[in-house]
Amino acid sequence: MSSSREFVSRTPVQGGATDQLRRSNLSNVLGLVHREGPLSRAELTRLTGLNRSTVGDLVAELAELGLVYEALPTTGNVPGRPSPIVHAQSGVVAIAINPEVDAIHVGLVGMSGRVLAKVRLEAATAPTPADVVRLASAAIAGLLSGREASLRVVGIGVAVPGQVRVSDGTVREATHMGWAEEPLSRMLSEATTFPAWAANAANLAMRAESVFGAGKGVDDFVYFIGGASGIGGGAVTGGRLLSGAAGYAGEFGHSFVRSRGTRCSCGATGCLEAEVTQAGLLEAVGLAPAEAGLLGSRLASSRDPGVRALISEQLDLLAIAVRTAVNLFNPTLVVLGGFLSDLYDAGGREGDALLSDAIRSAREDVRIEGAASASDQLLIGCGELVFSELIADPASLLLH
Ligand SMILES: [Zn+2]
Repeated sequence: MSSSREFVSRTPVQGGATDQLRRSNLSNVLGLVHREGPLSRAELTRLTGLNRSTVGDLVAELAELGLVYEALPTTGNVPGRPSPIVHAQSGVVAIAINPEVDAIHVGLVGMSGRVLAKVRLEAATAPTPADVVRLASAAIAGLLSGREASLRVVGIGVAVPGQVRVSDGTVREATHMGWAEEPLSRMLSEATTFPAWAANAANLAMRAESVFGAGKGVDDFVYFIGGASGIGGGAVTGGRLLSGAAGYAGEFGHSFVRSRGTRCSCGATGCLEAEVTQAGLLEAVGLAPAEAGLLGSRLASSRDPGVRALISEQLDLLAIAVRTAVNLFNPTLVVLGGFLSDLYDAGGREGDALLSDAIRSAREDVRIEGAASASDQLLIGCGELVFSELIADPASLLLH
Protein backbone atom coordinates (compact mmCIF):
# COMPACT_ATOMS: atom_id res chain seq x y z
CA MET A 1 0.00 0.00 0.00
CA SER A 2 2.84 2.39 0.75
CA SER A 3 4.05 2.53 -2.83
CA SER A 4 0.69 3.27 -4.44
CA ARG A 5 0.19 6.38 -2.33
CA GLU A 6 3.03 8.04 -4.17
CA PHE A 7 1.08 7.97 -7.40
CA VAL A 8 -1.70 10.27 -6.21
CA SER A 9 -1.89 13.42 -8.33
CA ARG A 10 -0.41 16.62 -7.04
CA THR A 11 -3.31 18.76 -8.30
CA PRO A 12 -3.45 21.71 -5.89
CA VAL A 13 -6.46 21.81 -3.62
CA GLN A 14 -7.94 25.29 -3.12
CA GLY A 15 -10.10 26.78 -0.38
CA GLY A 16 -9.83 27.66 3.32
CA ALA A 17 -7.99 25.52 5.86
CA THR A 18 -11.10 23.64 7.09
CA ASP A 19 -12.30 23.09 3.55
CA GLN A 20 -8.84 21.88 2.54
CA LEU A 21 -8.76 19.41 5.40
CA ARG A 22 -12.20 18.06 4.47
CA ARG A 23 -11.15 17.67 0.83
CA SER A 24 -7.96 15.95 1.85
CA ASN A 25 -9.91 13.55 4.07
CA LEU A 26 -12.41 12.85 1.26
CA SER A 27 -9.45 12.10 -1.01
CA ASN A 28 -7.92 9.78 1.57
CA VAL A 29 -11.13 7.76 2.08
CA LEU A 30 -11.90 7.47 -1.65
CA GLY A 31 -8.27 6.50 -2.37
CA LEU A 32 -8.44 3.68 0.19
CA VAL A 33 -11.70 2.28 -1.21
CA HIS A 34 -10.25 2.52 -4.72
CA ARG A 35 -6.98 0.74 -3.93
CA GLU A 36 -8.03 -1.73 -1.25
CA GLY A 37 -11.53 -2.62 -2.47
CA PRO A 38 -14.62 -2.65 -0.22
CA LEU A 39 -13.81 -1.60 3.37
CA SER A 40 -15.96 -1.40 6.47
CA ARG A 41 -16.41 1.95 8.21
CA ALA A 42 -14.47 0.44 11.10
CA GLU A 43 -11.52 -0.37 8.81
CA LEU A 44 -11.65 3.11 7.27
CA THR A 45 -11.59 4.61 10.76
CA ARG A 46 -8.52 2.55 11.63
CA LEU A 47 -6.69 3.21 8.34
CA THR A 48 -7.34 6.97 8.26
CA GLY A 49 -6.83 7.57 11.98
CA LEU A 50 -9.94 9.78 11.92
CA ASN A 51 -12.78 9.41 14.39
CA ARG A 52 -15.88 7.37 13.60
CA SER A 53 -18.28 10.24 13.12
CA THR A 54 -15.89 12.07 10.76
CA VAL A 55 -15.53 8.90 8.66
CA GLY A 56 -19.33 8.58 8.65
CA ASP A 57 -19.68 12.16 7.36
CA LEU A 58 -17.02 11.66 4.69
CA VAL A 59 -18.61 8.43 3.47
CA ALA A 60 -22.01 10.18 3.35
CA GLU A 61 -20.53 13.00 1.27
CA LEU A 62 -18.84 10.57 -1.14
CA ALA A 63 -22.13 8.67 -1.43
CA GLU A 64 -23.94 11.92 -2.20
CA LEU A 65 -21.38 12.61 -4.94
CA GLY A 66 -22.28 9.18 -6.36
CA LEU A 67 -18.77 7.79 -5.87
CA VAL A 68 -19.41 5.14 -3.19
CA TYR A 69 -22.31 3.22 -1.69
CA GLU A 70 -22.74 1.39 1.58
CA ALA A 71 -24.16 -2.07 2.15
CA LEU A 72 -24.38 -4.30 5.20
CA PRO A 73 -22.09 -7.33 5.06
CA THR A 74 -23.89 -10.42 3.81
CA THR A 75 -21.81 -13.02 5.66
CA GLY A 76 -20.10 -13.45 9.01
CA ASN A 77 -21.37 -13.96 12.52
CA VAL A 78 -19.67 -11.06 14.24
CA PRO A 79 -21.60 -10.22 17.39
CA GLY A 80 -23.05 -6.74 17.77
CA ARG A 81 -24.09 -4.30 15.08
CA PRO A 82 -22.21 -5.01 11.82
CA SER A 83 -20.18 -2.14 10.34
CA PRO A 84 -21.52 -1.18 6.88
CA ILE A 85 -19.17 -1.92 3.98
CA VAL A 86 -18.18 0.99 1.73
CA HIS A 87 -17.90 0.06 -1.96
CA ALA A 88 -16.73 2.10 -4.96
CA GLN A 89 -19.73 2.87 -7.19
CA SER A 90 -19.32 0.50 -10.14
CA GLY A 91 -20.85 2.90 -12.69
CA VAL A 92 -18.06 5.47 -12.21
CA VAL A 93 -15.75 4.80 -15.15
CA ALA A 94 -12.71 6.08 -17.01
CA ILE A 95 -12.27 5.77 -20.75
CA ALA A 96 -8.92 4.21 -21.65
CA ILE A 97 -7.15 4.66 -24.97
CA ASN A 98 -3.91 2.95 -25.97
CA PRO A 99 -2.70 3.62 -29.52
CA GLU A 100 -0.12 1.15 -30.84
CA VAL A 101 1.56 0.73 -34.22
CA ASP A 102 -0.85 -2.01 -35.29
CA ALA A 103 -4.09 -1.13 -33.46
CA ILE A 104 -5.89 1.27 -31.15
CA HIS A 105 -7.22 -0.25 -27.92
CA VAL A 106 -10.20 1.52 -26.33
CA GLY A 107 -11.85 0.43 -23.09
CA LEU A 108 -13.99 1.33 -20.11
CA VAL A 109 -12.37 0.84 -16.71
CA GLY A 110 -14.27 0.84 -13.42
CA MET A 111 -13.02 2.50 -10.25
CA SER A 112 -12.18 -0.91 -8.82
CA GLY A 113 -9.57 -1.35 -11.59
CA ARG A 114 -11.62 -3.75 -13.71
CA VAL A 115 -11.82 -3.51 -17.50
CA LEU A 116 -15.59 -3.47 -18.10
CA ALA A 117 -15.51 -3.45 -21.90
CA LYS A 118 -12.88 -3.08 -24.59
CA VAL A 119 -12.40 -3.01 -28.34
CA ARG A 120 -9.36 -3.38 -30.57
CA LEU A 121 -9.40 -1.25 -33.70
CA GLU A 122 -7.07 -2.69 -36.33
CA ALA A 123 -4.69 -0.28 -38.06
CA ALA A 124 -2.89 -1.27 -41.26
CA THR A 125 -0.24 1.39 -40.60
CA ALA A 126 0.65 3.34 -37.45
CA PRO A 127 -2.30 5.68 -36.80
CA THR A 128 -1.77 9.47 -36.76
CA PRO A 129 -3.02 11.49 -33.75
CA ALA A 130 -5.97 12.63 -35.90
CA ASP A 131 -6.76 8.95 -36.68
CA VAL A 132 -6.66 8.14 -32.96
CA VAL A 133 -9.06 10.98 -32.14
CA ARG A 134 -11.49 10.05 -34.92
CA LEU A 135 -11.46 6.26 -34.42
CA ALA A 136 -11.39 6.36 -30.62
CA SER A 137 -14.25 8.90 -30.51
CA ALA A 138 -16.41 6.55 -32.58
CA ALA A 139 -15.42 3.58 -30.41
CA ILE A 140 -16.23 5.52 -27.22
CA ALA A 141 -19.67 6.38 -28.57
CA GLY A 142 -20.19 2.67 -29.29
CA LEU A 143 -19.01 1.54 -25.84
CA LEU A 144 -21.22 4.09 -24.05
CA SER A 145 -24.25 3.58 -26.27
CA GLY A 146 -27.22 2.29 -24.30
CA ARG A 147 -25.33 2.57 -20.99
CA GLU A 148 -25.43 6.36 -20.58
CA ALA A 149 -27.91 6.15 -17.71
CA SER A 150 -25.86 3.70 -15.65
CA LEU A 151 -22.37 5.08 -16.32
CA ARG A 152 -20.65 8.23 -15.18
CA VAL A 153 -17.52 9.01 -17.19
CA VAL A 154 -14.84 10.84 -15.18
CA GLY A 155 -12.50 11.40 -18.12
CA ILE A 156 -10.11 9.87 -20.63
CA GLY A 157 -6.68 8.40 -19.92
CA VAL A 158 -4.31 7.76 -22.82
CA ALA A 159 -1.32 5.39 -22.73
CA VAL A 160 1.19 6.49 -25.37
CA PRO A 161 4.13 4.34 -26.50
CA GLY A 162 6.52 7.29 -26.27
CA GLN A 163 7.55 10.25 -24.16
CA VAL A 164 4.72 12.41 -22.86
CA ARG A 165 4.94 15.69 -20.98
CA VAL A 166 2.56 14.81 -18.16
CA SER A 167 1.76 18.43 -17.24
CA ASP A 168 -0.26 19.04 -20.42
CA GLY A 169 -0.51 15.62 -22.10
CA THR A 170 1.64 16.61 -25.07
CA VAL A 171 3.34 13.69 -26.81
CA ARG A 172 6.92 14.93 -27.17
CA GLU A 173 8.07 11.97 -29.21
CA ALA A 174 6.65 8.57 -30.14
CA THR A 175 9.17 7.34 -32.66
CA HIS A 176 7.40 4.08 -33.60
CA MET A 177 4.24 6.03 -34.33
CA GLY A 178 6.12 8.79 -36.18
CA TRP A 179 4.71 11.45 -33.80
CA ALA A 180 6.42 14.54 -32.42
CA GLU A 181 4.99 17.42 -30.35
CA GLU A 182 1.37 16.31 -30.62
CA PRO A 183 -1.18 17.86 -28.19
CA LEU A 184 -3.08 14.57 -27.98
CA SER A 185 -4.98 15.12 -24.71
CA ARG A 186 -6.27 18.50 -25.86
CA MET A 187 -7.37 17.05 -29.21
CA LEU A 188 -9.27 14.22 -27.49
CA SER A 189 -10.83 16.53 -24.98
CA GLU A 190 -12.06 18.89 -27.70
CA ALA A 191 -13.47 16.02 -29.76
CA THR A 192 -15.27 14.23 -26.92
CA THR A 193 -15.86 17.04 -24.32
CA PHE A 194 -14.42 14.74 -21.60
CA PRO A 195 -11.32 15.89 -19.72
CA ALA A 196 -8.30 13.91 -20.96
CA TRP A 197 -4.83 13.10 -19.65
CA ALA A 198 -1.95 11.24 -21.29
CA ALA A 199 1.22 9.55 -20.05
CA ASN A 200 3.86 7.04 -21.10
CA ALA A 201 2.27 3.62 -21.64
CA ALA A 202 4.85 1.58 -19.72
CA ASN A 203 4.63 3.92 -16.77
CA LEU A 204 0.85 3.54 -16.68
CA ALA A 205 1.06 -0.26 -16.90
CA MET A 206 3.49 -0.10 -14.01
CA ARG A 207 1.08 2.01 -11.98
CA ALA A 208 -1.63 -0.59 -12.60
CA GLU A 209 0.79 -3.32 -11.50
CA SER A 210 1.69 -1.34 -8.41
CA VAL A 211 -1.87 -0.66 -7.30
CA PHE A 212 -3.60 -3.92 -8.29
CA GLY A 213 -0.95 -6.43 -9.43
CA ALA A 214 2.29 -8.15 -8.45
CA GLY A 215 3.83 -4.86 -7.32
CA LYS A 216 1.13 -4.13 -4.71
CA GLY A 217 2.84 -3.27 -1.45
CA VAL A 218 6.35 -3.73 -2.93
CA ASP A 219 8.61 -0.72 -2.35
CA ASP A 220 11.45 -1.66 -4.72
CA PHE A 221 10.67 -3.22 -8.06
CA VAL A 222 11.46 -2.83 -11.72
CA TYR A 223 9.03 -3.38 -14.53
CA PHE A 224 9.53 -4.33 -18.17
CA ILE A 225 6.61 -4.41 -20.57
CA GLY A 226 6.78 -5.47 -24.21
CA GLY A 227 4.16 -4.84 -26.86
CA ALA A 228 3.74 -4.21 -30.58
CA SER A 229 5.33 -0.77 -30.24
CA GLY A 230 8.45 -1.87 -28.37
CA ILE A 231 9.58 -2.26 -24.78
CA GLY A 232 9.09 0.19 -21.94
CA GLY A 233 9.50 0.05 -18.24
CA GLY A 234 10.00 1.79 -14.99
CA ALA A 235 11.31 1.48 -11.47
CA VAL A 236 9.77 2.01 -8.07
CA THR A 237 12.48 2.70 -5.51
CA GLY A 238 11.75 3.24 -1.84
CA GLY A 239 8.03 3.31 -2.66
CA ARG A 240 8.35 6.10 -5.21
CA LEU A 241 7.99 5.86 -8.96
CA LEU A 242 11.25 7.03 -10.49
CA SER A 243 10.04 9.70 -12.90
CA GLY A 244 13.15 11.70 -13.76
CA ALA A 245 13.11 15.47 -14.29
CA ALA A 246 10.24 15.51 -16.80
CA GLY A 247 8.76 12.02 -16.56
CA TYR A 248 10.91 10.19 -19.13
CA ALA A 249 12.80 7.85 -16.77
CA GLY A 250 12.67 4.05 -17.04
CA GLU A 251 13.26 3.55 -20.77
CA PHE A 252 14.62 0.02 -20.36
CA GLY A 253 13.71 -0.63 -23.99
CA HIS A 254 16.68 1.51 -24.96
CA SER A 255 19.16 -0.35 -22.75
CA PHE A 256 22.16 -1.34 -24.85
CA VAL A 257 22.23 -5.13 -25.23
CA ARG A 258 24.17 -5.93 -28.44
CA SER A 259 27.29 -4.53 -30.05
CA ARG A 260 26.87 -3.72 -33.74
CA GLY A 261 23.18 -4.52 -33.35
CA THR A 262 20.06 -3.48 -35.20
CA ARG A 263 19.29 0.22 -35.71
CA CYS A 264 16.66 1.30 -33.17
CA SER A 265 13.84 3.81 -33.75
CA CYS A 266 15.63 6.14 -31.29
CA GLY A 267 18.60 6.39 -33.65
CA ALA A 268 21.04 4.27 -31.61
CA THR A 269 21.90 0.63 -32.35
CA GLY A 270 21.63 -2.53 -30.26
CA CYS A 271 18.80 -1.30 -27.97
CA LEU A 272 16.75 -4.01 -26.21
CA GLU A 273 13.59 -3.14 -28.11
CA ALA A 274 15.37 -3.30 -31.47
CA GLU A 275 16.72 -6.77 -30.64
CA VAL A 276 13.83 -8.38 -28.76
CA THR A 277 10.56 -7.87 -30.62
CA GLN A 278 6.99 -9.11 -30.45
CA ALA A 279 6.81 -9.05 -34.25
CA GLY A 280 9.79 -11.42 -34.56
CA LEU A 281 8.32 -13.92 -32.10
CA LEU A 282 4.86 -13.77 -33.69
CA GLU A 283 6.36 -14.42 -37.11
CA ALA A 284 8.41 -17.36 -35.81
CA VAL A 285 5.26 -19.16 -34.64
CA GLY A 286 3.10 -18.07 -37.60
CA LEU A 287 0.77 -15.67 -35.79
CA ALA A 288 -0.66 -12.36 -37.05
CA PRO A 289 -0.29 -9.15 -34.97
CA ALA A 290 -3.94 -9.37 -33.84
CA GLU A 291 -3.25 -12.86 -32.43
CA ALA A 292 -0.64 -11.69 -29.91
CA GLY A 293 -2.86 -13.10 -27.14
CA LEU A 294 -1.95 -16.60 -28.36
CA LEU A 295 1.80 -15.97 -28.37
CA GLY A 296 2.46 -17.40 -24.90
CA SER A 297 0.83 -20.76 -25.55
CA ARG A 298 2.36 -21.07 -29.04
CA LEU A 299 5.88 -20.33 -27.81
CA ALA A 300 5.55 -22.66 -24.82
CA SER A 301 4.26 -25.59 -26.89
CA SER A 302 6.60 -25.19 -29.86
CA ARG A 303 9.13 -28.00 -30.42
CA ASP A 304 10.55 -26.35 -33.54
CA PRO A 305 14.34 -26.08 -33.01
CA GLY A 306 14.34 -22.70 -34.78
CA VAL A 307 11.72 -21.34 -32.37
CA ARG A 308 13.52 -22.82 -29.34
CA ALA A 309 16.78 -21.20 -30.49
CA LEU A 310 15.03 -17.87 -30.96
CA ILE A 311 13.50 -18.04 -27.45
CA SER A 312 16.93 -18.78 -26.04
CA GLU A 313 18.61 -15.92 -27.94
CA GLN A 314 15.88 -13.42 -27.02
CA LEU A 315 16.08 -14.41 -23.32
CA ASP A 316 19.88 -13.93 -23.40
CA LEU A 317 19.41 -10.40 -24.72
CA LEU A 318 16.64 -9.67 -22.19
CA ALA A 319 18.96 -10.97 -19.44
CA ILE A 320 21.48 -8.22 -20.22
CA ALA A 321 18.86 -5.52 -19.66
CA VAL A 322 17.46 -7.24 -16.54
CA ARG A 323 20.98 -7.59 -15.13
CA THR A 324 21.60 -3.88 -15.65
CA ALA A 325 18.32 -2.96 -13.96
CA VAL A 326 18.95 -5.28 -10.99
CA ASN A 327 22.50 -3.99 -10.53
CA LEU A 328 21.34 -0.37 -10.71
CA PHE A 329 18.16 -0.45 -8.63
CA ASN A 330 18.53 -3.43 -6.21
CA PRO A 331 14.85 -4.41 -6.49
CA THR A 332 13.16 -7.32 -4.71
CA LEU A 333 10.90 -7.96 -7.69
CA VAL A 334 11.25 -7.87 -11.48
CA VAL A 335 7.88 -7.83 -13.24
CA LEU A 336 7.74 -8.83 -16.90
CA GLY A 337 4.63 -7.75 -18.79
CA GLY A 338 3.19 -8.31 -22.25
CA PHE A 339 5.14 -10.53 -24.65
CA LEU A 340 8.15 -10.52 -22.30
CA SER A 341 6.06 -12.54 -19.87
CA ASP A 342 5.24 -14.99 -22.69
CA LEU A 343 8.93 -15.21 -23.57
CA TYR A 344 9.95 -15.80 -19.95
CA ASP A 345 7.30 -18.51 -19.45
CA ALA A 346 8.28 -20.24 -22.71
CA GLY A 347 11.93 -20.35 -21.61
CA GLY A 348 11.10 -22.56 -18.63
CA ARG A 349 14.24 -23.09 -16.55
CA GLU A 350 16.22 -20.86 -18.90
CA GLY A 351 14.22 -17.96 -17.47
CA ASP A 352 16.15 -18.32 -14.19
CA ALA A 353 19.25 -17.29 -16.13
CA LEU A 354 17.77 -13.79 -16.42
CA LEU A 355 19.38 -13.02 -13.07
CA SER A 356 22.49 -15.17 -13.18
CA ASP A 357 24.87 -12.43 -14.34
CA ALA A 358 23.66 -9.77 -11.91
CA ILE A 359 26.08 -9.12 -9.04
CA ARG A 360 25.48 -11.69 -6.33
CA SER A 361 24.49 -9.34 -3.53
CA ALA A 362 21.98 -7.50 -5.76
CA ARG A 363 20.38 -10.66 -7.16
CA GLU A 364 19.80 -12.29 -3.78
CA ASP A 365 16.10 -12.53 -2.93
CA VAL A 366 14.96 -11.13 -6.29
CA ARG A 367 11.74 -12.66 -7.62
CA ILE A 368 10.73 -12.59 -11.29
CA GLU A 369 7.02 -12.51 -11.99
CA GLY A 370 4.94 -12.34 -15.14
CA ALA A 371 2.28 -9.61 -15.21
CA ALA A 372 -1.27 -9.88 -16.48
CA SER A 373 -2.04 -9.31 -20.16
CA ALA A 374 -0.31 -6.21 -21.48
CA SER A 375 -3.40 -4.82 -23.10
CA ASP A 376 -5.55 -5.01 -19.93
CA GLN A 377 -2.71 -3.70 -17.80
CA LEU A 378 -2.36 -0.67 -20.08
CA LEU A 379 -6.10 0.03 -19.99
CA ILE A 380 -6.17 -0.27 -16.18
CA GLY A 381 -3.18 2.10 -16.08
CA CYS A 382 -5.14 4.61 -18.20
CA GLY A 383 -7.92 4.31 -15.63
CA GLU A 384 -5.41 5.02 -12.84
CA LEU A 385 -4.37 8.23 -14.61
CA VAL A 386 -8.00 9.43 -14.55
CA PHE A 387 -8.96 8.13 -11.10
CA SER A 388 -5.89 9.69 -9.48
CA GLU A 389 -7.24 13.08 -10.63
CA LEU A 390 -10.68 12.24 -9.24
CA ILE A 391 -9.25 10.98 -5.95
CA ALA A 392 -7.03 14.07 -5.56
CA ASP A 393 -10.13 16.25 -5.25
CA PRO A 394 -13.36 14.25 -5.59
CA ALA A 395 -15.82 17.10 -5.29
CA SER A 396 -14.26 19.58 -7.70
CA LEU A 397 -13.53 17.26 -10.64
CA LEU A 398 -17.18 16.25 -10.85
CA LEU A 399 -18.26 19.87 -11.19
CA HIS A 400 -16.59 20.15 -14.60
ZN1 LIG B 1 16.73 2.76 -28.82
